[in-house]
Amino acid sequence: MHLGDRGARLSGTLHVVSVPIGNAEDITLRALRVLRTAHLVAAEDTRSTAALLAHHGISARLVALHDHNEREQAEQMVARLQRGEEIALVSEAGTPLVNDPGFRLVRACIDAGLAVDVVPGACAAIAALVGAGLPVDRWLYAGFFPREAGARARLADELGGLRATLVFYESPQRLAGTLDWLAATWPARELCVARNLTKQHEQWLRGRPADLRRELGDEDRGEVVLLVGPPAEAPLVQDADALAQELLARGLDPRTARDALAEATGLSRRDAYRKVLDLLGR
Ligand code: SAM
Repeated sequence: MHLGDRGARLSGTLHVVSVPIGNAEDITLRALRVLRTAHLVAAEDTRSTAALLAHHGISARLVALHDHNEREQAEQMVARLQRGEEIALVSEAGTPLVNDPGFRLVRACIDAGLAVDVVPGACAAIAALVGAGLPVDRWLYAGFFPREAGARARLADELGGLRATLVFYESPQRLAGTLDWLAATWPARELCVARNLTKQHEQWLRGRPADLRRELGDEDRGEVVLLVGPPAEAPLVQDADALAQELLARGLDPRTARDALAEATGLSRRDAYRKVLDLLGR
């Protein structure tokens, strides 16, 4: 059995293999072949990988590779590959490296001149993106939604004006608070919450932040991808003064009012801030 095109190389190949995100059938024929024939499977979570392999009748030698041991493991894996072993890298779910371990190992292999073979497949971010109904021509994956106020403010700064769909992973327990933040900061954006993709209780919520917050209620379970549509092409609100007054009357702090004002009127954040501070007499 040949794994990839090894030609006359003596070294082995690192195979980066995607696995399902909820439905055990979402794995490719090539992924199963690679997992069956690899000398070693480096797994983020050996228990869940063992269960997946058992489901497909595969027995493999598993080694744990996670955030806490990746540096040391990468060195050992490189040595194994240099001896000619074939290694498959898998995550607990979806595609390795996408908010999962593997970057250091892939980088170490590239630096050592070793072959890296990608076996594509399920990835929650991509699955959510293609089903969300938001523009897909330009999109940006930004990892887990930031938790701290400062990091959220930086997010609004860096990505607020970007004409692209933003894709985030989010914890179900933090989703309600994040929707509140979005309702205050980007009230007019189209959102999609994709929950439990490919699982029995898959759910898609679509709408503006405040609507989704209402629809969500106190549900705080499952796995969630949160997508934020791009800002509107044309300003939604013409009367910036009236809106600024309204935002301050709602009790928003000056920076949050600035972001919401800039978003709705198309003003630069600097001009929006000036207007807010003027109204506050500062
Ligand atoms: N590597 C994975 C991938 O390719 O999607 C992502 C790993 S990341 C640590 C785990 C996060 O992915 C979850 O917290 C959730 O935000 C998202 N996720 C994973 N599976 C999902 C699913 N079935 N439905 C919705 N979101 C999912």
